[in-house]
Amino acid sequence: TKWVYTFGDGKAEGEAAMRNLLGGKGANLAEMSNLGLPVPPGFTITTEVCTYFYDHDRTYPPELEDAVNAALAEVGGIAGRAFGDAKNPLLVSVRSGARASMPGMMDTVLNLGLNDATVDALAQDAGDDRFAYDSYRRFITMYSNVVLGLEHHDFEDALEAYKDRKGYELDTDLSAADWKSLIERFKAIVQEKLGAPFPQDPKDQLWGAIGAVFGSWMNPRANKYRELHQIPASWGTAVNVQAMVFGNMGDTSATGVAFTRNPSTGDSRLYGEFLVNAQGEDVVAGIRTPQDITEAARVESGADKPSMETVMPQAYAELVAICGKLEGHYRDMQDLEFTIEKGKLWMLQTRNGKRTARAALKIACDLVEEGVISEQEAVGRVEPQALDQLLHPTIDPKAERDLLASGLPASPGAASGEIVFTSEAAEAVKKVGRKCILVRVETSPEDIHGMHAAEAILTTRGGMTSHAAVVARGMGKPCVSGAGSIRVDAKAKTLTVAGRTLGEGDIVTVDGGAGQVLVGAVPMLEPELSGDFAKLMTWADRVRRLRVRANAETPLDARTARNFGAEGIGLCRTEHMFFEGDRIVAVREMILADDAEGRRAALAKLLPMQRADFVELFTIMKGLPVTIRLLDPPLHEFLPHTDEELEEVARSIGAPAEKLKRRAAELSEANPMLGFRGVRLAVAYPEIAEMQARAIFEAAVKAASDTGSPVTPEVMVPLVMTKPELDLVKGRIDAMAKAVMTETGATFAYQVGTMIELPRAALRAGEIAQSAEFFSFGTNDLTQTTLGISRDDAASFLGPYVQKGLIEFDPFVTLDQEGVGELVAMAAERGRATRPDIKLGICGEHGGDPASIRFCEGLGLDYVSCSPYRVPIARLAAAQAAL
Ligand code: PEP
Ligand code: MG
Repeated sequence: TKWVYTFGDGKAEGEAAMRNLLGGKGANLAEMSNLGLPVPPGFTITTEVCTYFYDHDRTYPPELEDAVNAALAEVGGIAGRAFGDAKNPLLVSVRSGARASMPGMMDTVLNLGLNDATVDALAQDAGDDRFAYDSYRRFITMYSNVVLGLEHHDFEDALEAYKDRKGYELDTDLSAADWKSLIERFKAIVQEKLGAPFPQDPKDQLWGAIGAVFGSWMNPRANKYRELHQIPASWGTAVNVQAMVFGNMGDTSATGVAFTRNPSTGDSRLYGEFLVNAQGEDVVAGIRTPQDITEAARVESGADKPSMETVMPQAYAELVAICGKLEGHYRDMQDLEFTIEKGKLWMLQTRNGKRTARAALKIACDLVEEGVISEQEAVGRVEPQALDQLLHPTIDPKAERDLLASGLPASPGAASGEIVFTSEAAEAVKKVGRKCILVRVETSPEDIHGMHAAEAILTTRGGMTSHAAVVARGMGKPCVSGAGSIRVDAKAKTLTVAGRTLGEGDIVTVDGGAGQVLVGAVPMLEPELSGDFAKLMTWADRVRRLRVRANAETPLDARTARNFGAEGIGLCRTEHMFFEGDRIVAVREMILADDAEGRRAALAKLLPMQRADFVELFTIMKGLPVTIRLLDPPLHEFLPHTDEELEEVARSIGAPAEKLKRRAAELSEANPMLGFRGVRLAVAYPEIAEMQARAIFEAAVKAASDTGSPVTPEVMVPLVMTKPELDLVKGRIDAMAKAVMTETGATFAYQVGTMIELPRAALRAGEIAQSAEFFSFGTNDLTQTTLGISRDDAASFLGPYVQKGLIEFDPFVTLDQEGVGELVAMAAERGRATRPDIKLGICGEHGGDPASIRFCEGLGLDYVSCSPYRVPIARLAAAQAAL
């Protein structure tokens, strides 16, 4: 096995296509080398070594050491230096690089190879003692933290104490001699804490760092990130060892990050930030506020620090050329890291840039326009889930803005919530069902869980590429970063700006698109769905085979669904209509009635209301299919909760409240979800199903005559387990259809079908299909009954299952393809064997989940049905599944 791949000097052993083996960073460094771009030479230790490492008790393949030595020699040859050489040392960085980008989650060591001897060589090389000793002390701090497990503050405290003693205020006040004596102190700290000296042998340093990077694959932060982003632990990380270049060798050196297009808006201009005389992580860390790369951006932002275009015109021109070359090569927007060492530009990374949904849309559409990619490719370029960001509200432009502070528009969208200052508080607030805004000076990877819990993020420090900004964009949450006028007092739990003080619990609104923080909750507007969005959706619809319907029962839902492009209603849960207005009183009358006659009297009141509902739905859907489900939930869900409610019903029926109370008690069940619900209601109380069927058919006649286009209702029976059960109810429905036709003199087509949401129904689908003209997979109940997990109580124990890796995803969100999916597949096959033209759909929550939609496409189902806001996501996911 080849464990190590070298790159540099215009060639490489790897290439971009080897991402699984070399990780994203390693594969792209190889690719850039092959393209002849200026890349510091280095080598990548493969992800297979990581797998080996964890399979073999954290040890390495025996051949690895020789391979690394050979690679070091090759890199040294290109750089004209030798690793460990006291006169002309090769210094390296050691970084992680997984298949999927996991920003900031794993460990990095810079300046490796420095020791008491090589530090002098570096000083001579750079012509700058102070720089060399500063680099050495940074290395000792970083290495001790990442590899040796010491705390940052062990060293920071020593530094502060030293500054106090000397009367210094800033780090920049320290001279070379100061750093030199601090280094002695730092080494002594290591000796004290660990009982062993700081390693002086560069080889020891290197293996320590390699072990730490592989080890960091399993650190809690990385584990959490993988869990949130559904990255399997089995992928492993690669380790990249690369010759150091220094962005902190004075004012002709710099380090920066750039995007070939704006990652927030998609605007097709080079976009980025850099810092003069700074090293590696300084830009991303957000400690110093960086400068713009282009002069145009500087002018736009009104920043007073000059742009890179102005201060380093030559390196800038080269960077622009490289951006064009890389974008053309990868055919997508790139996210680059670069360093300028004494005027010379070096590329440290390129990858397809993360972007907001809005940017993803615009970039995909622009690339089609520019002739770079096809319409079909564009469809594949936008992550369906990301559309969520575009479907959510923005601040009403007419709303009054009580501006608290301004910062950078780091991630678009708007959200309101109460202020919290810690991630723990964010999680606590979210847990009790309230909304919060996480306010931090800056965020770090430890804040991921809090960022997830918050509606939006606000930081007072850091740029557009700070941790907060990058992570918020990835999560699709609004973020304002670098709102520098805000002072956060973490202890007092307050923030102060321009004389105003707000505390924990006070409501603010974050407008991530404008970079503003507003006091109070501000009115929001529904999103705009024209332009690029409409364009991409049209392209998606061209390749998609699956139809997309919506789960909707109110006229508002139905209209929203139509606006989002739903092609009908796949599930109208009629029980939701029973809660509208004061209908609930009539519903309660029906439930609490003693006998069929009492029920009929109450149903007679409900009939005109249901009929009117259905007329409205049919009219909005203008001839598109509408599936209406008969009453499903356990009756006790409708029971009065208070004495007052009970008395209201008693008055309406003219029966004593006491009697109703008794009847209500009779209806209570130990296990209602497996109780008196679904088709069982229609079996026991046929008059309910008859009323609903009459309402549906009379509405179909009326809507057809109103609109002039025929309506073909689909009547759906829930929770069926046997064919005779369905037959019984179907007989009543058919009889009602006939009656309505006779009474109205109109004819209409209709279908009767069933939900498949019990394992028995899936197993007996062949038989059930003799009666059912369509199946709709109710995967919520089917998951509940197949896994034996209550859908209402799963939250308390499913979390640990996901964390411990016992299951990969929440089965109520993403279909359990192996278990529940097998039942769906079997039922589809058996249903088709009986009735080749049987219509098959899915209407559980999974109908809006991209991975589950892909599965449905694989089974050749006819449609998916999901909540209205997920319809565009489903359209795009269905298109991608068909590509
Ligand atoms: C289902 O069970 O998947 C379904 C769609 O029905 P409900 O969620 O209403 O039980
Ligand atoms: Mg159900």
